[in-house]
Amino acid sequence: MDDYAGLVAVVTGGASGIGAATADLLADRGARVAVLDRDLSTAEPRHLGVECDVTDRASVDAAVGRVVAELGGLDVCINNAGIGAQGDVAANDDDEWHRVLDVNVVGIARVTAAALPHLRRSRAAAVVATSSVVARVGLPQRALYGASKGAVLALTLAMAADHVAEGIRVNCVAPGTADTPWVGRLLDAADDPAAAAAQLRARQPMGRLVTAAEVASAIAYLGSPLSGSTTGTVLTVDGGLSALRLPPR
Ligand code: NAD
Repeated sequence: MDDYAGLVAVVTGGASGIGAATADLLADRGARVAVLDRDLSTAEPRHLGVECDVTDRASVDAAVGRVVAELGGLDVCINNAGIGAQGDVAANDDDEWHRVLDVNVVGIARVTAAALPHLRRSRAAAVVATSSVVARVGLPQRALYGASKGAVLALTLAMAADHVAEGIRVNCVAPGTADTPWVGRLLDAADDPAAAAAQLRARQPMGRLVTAAEVASAIAYLGSPLSGSTTGTVLTVDGGLSALRLPPR
C-alpha cells in the first residue's frame, strides 16, 4: 500500500514501542518519516532521527523546523510520546503530576502548535495522538495516567473542531495493554515477572496483549487519506477490554 507516498510524517516517541512500529509502517507505505524522541539510541536509522524533548518548546520548535527543512514539509503529525504513572489520586506529589501532564498532554499541544503552519499547507493534513483505554474505563491505580490520557481525548476533540475548516483532521487511538518495552519494564520490576505477565494476559479477553504493530496499523489508518472523512474520533485497539465484560480467563 502506498497511501503515504509523497507525505512527510513526524512520530514523537518514535524510537520505541508503538511509535517505532508506527514510524516503520508509515515508511513502508511511502512516507518520509522523522522520529522525534528524547532518546534516539533505539531509533531505526532509515528514518530522520531528531533529538527532541516534547516538554521543551524550543526543542520542539527546532525539531519541527529541521524536519521541514530536511524533508520538505510536514503532512502527518503523530503525537505518541508518553510516560506512565502508577497509583491512586494520593500516590503522586505535585511535581509528578506536572511532569506526567507536561509530557502526555502539553507535549501534544507544543508539537501540534509547531506543526500547524506546515499542516495548513498540506493537501493531506492529519494529526493522530496516542490516548489509552484508561481515558474511558476506570482502572485501579491509574489516577494520574488516566487523567492525562482523558485529556488527550478531550484535546483531540477540541483540535478537531478548531481545524476542520482548514482541512486538518485530528483523531486519536486508545490502546489497551500493548506488548512494548514500556510494559516489559513494568513486568520486570514485579516481584515475580512471569506471574505478573500471566496475570496481565488473563485479564485480556483475547488472552494476549495488543501488539505494537496492531496499534500502529490503527494510527496509520487515521493518519492516511484513506480516512479522509474521519475527524474527532477515537479508535480503540484493546482486544475487547473496554467493550466486553468478561471474567478473567
Ligand atoms: P515506550 O516507552 O516503548 O516508548 C515511548 C517513547 O517515548 C520512548 O522512545 C521515549 O524515549 C519517548 N519519550 C518519552 N518522553 C519523551 C519526551 N519528553 N520527549 C520525547 N520523547 C519522549 O512506550 P509505548 O508503550 O510504546 O507507549 C507509547 C504511547 O502509547 C504512550 O503515549 C503511552 O502512554 C501509550 N500507550 C501505551 C500502552 C501500552 O500498554 N504500552 C497502552 C496505552 C497507551
